[in-house]
Amino acid sequence: MRFLRNFSFSIGFLLFLLLLIPTTGHAQEGQTYEVSSAVLNVRSEPSNNAEILGLLSKGNNVMVFQEKYGWVQTYYGGQVGWIAKHHLIPTTNNQPANDNVATTTTQTLESVTITANGVNIRTGPDTSYSSIGSTYAGDTYHLVATEGDWHQVSLANGSKGWVASWLTDKATTTGNTTQSTPVHTVDDDSTVNTGGSLAGYNIVIDPGHGGNDPGAIGLGGVYEKDLVSSTSDIVVQQLRDAGADVIVTRLGDYYISLDERAQISNSYNTDAFISLHYNAFPILGVQGVSTYYSSDTDHQLAQSVHSSLVSNVNLNNRGIIQEHYKVLRSTYAPSILMELGFITNPYDLSMIQTSDYQYKVAQAITNGLINYFN
Ligand SMILES: [Zn+2]
Repeated sequence: MRFLRNFSFSIGFLLFLLLLIPTTGHAQEGQTYEVSSAVLNVRSEPSNNAEILGLLSKGNNVMVFQEKYGWVQTYYGGQVGWIAKHHLIPTTNNQPANDNVATTTTQTLESVTITANGVNIRTGPDTSYSSIGSTYAGDTYHLVATEGDWHQVSLANGSKGWVASWLTDKATTTGNTTQSTPVHTVDDDSTVNTGGSLAGYNIVIDPGHGGNDPGAIGLGGVYEKDLVSSTSDIVVQQLRDAGADVIVTRLGDYYISLDERAQISNSYNTDAFISLHYNAFPILGVQGVSTYYSSDTDHQLAQSVHSSLVSNVNLNNRGIIQEHYKVLRSTYAPSILMELGFITNPYDLSMIQTSDYQYKVAQAITNGLINYFN
């Protein structure tokens, strides 16, 4: 694999990066270690009898999360892997992420919980302001300010947005307007879906992981499921702006099985299914974006969307890869799984966490689909 070569890892840059990472409340900081033996097995379970998933070599930096029976957990090729701890040396300045982050936040401890599905997050305290995303029953945010019937909340990507207070557990009045939309059928009240380039197409967006399944855990304890959710919100909004009918498999932070994700897609007349993920790898130098497809009939979709992606974003191009992932195999519609960068790579993560990057991803998916259908 071409990426398995020496890389230098700047502690200074990492500390800078940690300042940019918002507190997530459930942050579980990763610790970095250096591999001290010539070759080190990564296994599927914390045991010498467990299946070998891959190999690390001397000098590789790895990020670990939990420890069990003298083994530590990391990620290898997007899946959980275990390595024997006695072959690892802690790297210097192994400072917990939260020490840096705590001083940068001045949020109140007050929070609001959304009580309806498909609630718009807007740029200002009125329905005339444009929507920058949607949020769902059970989602909780830090309350920043209240103006009239609207609450300003801080978002996972570090920016702020406004939600109608009557759609939260902290209503300021008994408003009779409703912004809620039924689960899985997400026609935005603010968007006129006529005449767009994607009008008439049903697109399923599948934000990976959720609930008890955080997905990969990246630098500073950032969770894949959270980044995938914020990216998905922007993707969904842009697709709707282009006229598409968008169905979302996971409407909040909860667990949903791969079969259920496929069933949601299969119960609609779906034209394209796109599963969104961020990648992780124990070697922090590994970076870039890739797109996976399963059957040959999905290849064209993968090609259209991936080429649009790599021309739109500034991360390494790891290419289009055929892999028979269950969620792709079980979905009848043309389907792809996108790995939108490595949250274990300092450069990738610094890009991924910006809303600018997530908007570029959304634009790329939208354009890729327009090319695909035409
Ligand atoms: Zn994933």
